[in-house]
Amino acid sequence: MAKHGSCLEHQTGLDQLEPYVPGTPIEEVQRKYGLEDVIKLASNENPLGPSPRAVEAIRDALPRLNFYPDGQSYYLRRALAGFLEVEPEQIAVGNGADGLIMQTCMAYLCEGTEVVVSASSFPVYDIYTHVMRARLVKTPLKDYGIDLEAMTDAMTPETRLVFVCNPNNPTGTIVTADEVTAFMERVPDHVLVVFDEAYYEMVESDAYPETLEYVRQGRGNVMVMRTYSKAFGLAGIRLGYAIAAPEVLAPLNRVKEPFAVNLLAQAAGVAALEDREFLRRTVETTQRERRFLRQAFEDLGFETIPSETNFMLVRFGPDADQVHEGLMRRGVIVRPCTGYALPEFLRITVGSREQNERLVLAVEDVLCL
Ligand SMILES: *Cc1c(COP(=O)(O)O)cnc(C)c1O
Repeated sequence: MAKHGSCLEHQTGLDQLEPYVPGTPIEEVQRKYGLEDVIKLASNENPLGPSPRAVEAIRDALPRLNFYPDGQSYYLRRALAGFLEVEPEQIAVGNGADGLIMQTCMAYLCEGTEVVVSASSFPVYDIYTHVMRARLVKTPLKDYGIDLEAMTDAMTPETRLVFVCNPNNPTGTIVTADEVTAFMERVPDHVLVVFDEAYYEMVESDAYPETLEYVRQGRGNVMVMRTYSKAFGLAGIRLGYAIAAPEVLAPLNRVKEPFAVNLLAQAAGVAALEDREFLRRTVETTQRERRFLRQAFEDLGFETIPSETNFMLVRFGPDADQVHEGLMRRGVIVRPCTGYALPEFLRITVGSREQNERLVLAVEDVLCL
């Protein structure tokens, strides 16, 4: 690296910061291995494509691209409020849930404060905690799930935020309503609890908590985050939302980019909520296909972690790296979990039946099964 570069890093104290590593793009694998037909099961994208109603709304909005978007996202927040049965003042929208995680960290953290997260969880929490020079406290997993008791035990007077990824990425597990109730009774008022529910729509378990009830009841230290990227098939438009008391959201609004949610995203966000048919098909496909994949891997003798999401962890043991590489050569991209401290696993997105069958055949081929 250039001399002035390392000097800058030293000055900012961010030399420890690991950049986020996204799923390998299809085009990169096509280039690298000279393949044409490549499928990506690495970023939990929707195999049904985007919501058709959202695509139509984007097309209709194109002639207005010379205008700045509405900085308040008035219509989008109103539509979300109706959809979620809360008030528009209880909603913030952002440039993906990622953007809202960044805003939350900017608004609530500084040097000397602490953040509690679980080991093997979503890495974006770690990144912005470090950016804000706050201290990151990680609690261990329990049976591949988030351990809420360990998280409360880890809180101190300096704790400002706790991120509960539910279902958890990359393990696909949930914390239950009973666990959340006990947790919320113990969490002190000076800690803001952020429930990241990026996969909310795909959960099948009756034990999953309805955390939005805390917001509806006016609780002051809870935020729920969700996204259009997964169930609505709109990862490319970058749109997420947070639900919390207006006084919890006010600091997020102070640090927000003036036009963080672009004009096309606002139009798509309103239309996607009306596309109940697309949402229904997505949920049905996800639940059916994750059962199919789980069975297929168990039949081949591989352990899987039961998932409530559109991805699952599959244990390949010490061969995980080799399987990842072998799949890539066969045009199937999955996600290694070394960065998540689960090196024996690969995280595999649940695709369409055709994609899932191709994946299973490729695994058999790689391992000569
Ligand atoms: C995908 C994902 C997000 C990011 O959502 P965007 O709206 O695309 O930024 C946030 N949290 C978790 C747990 C995710 O898996």
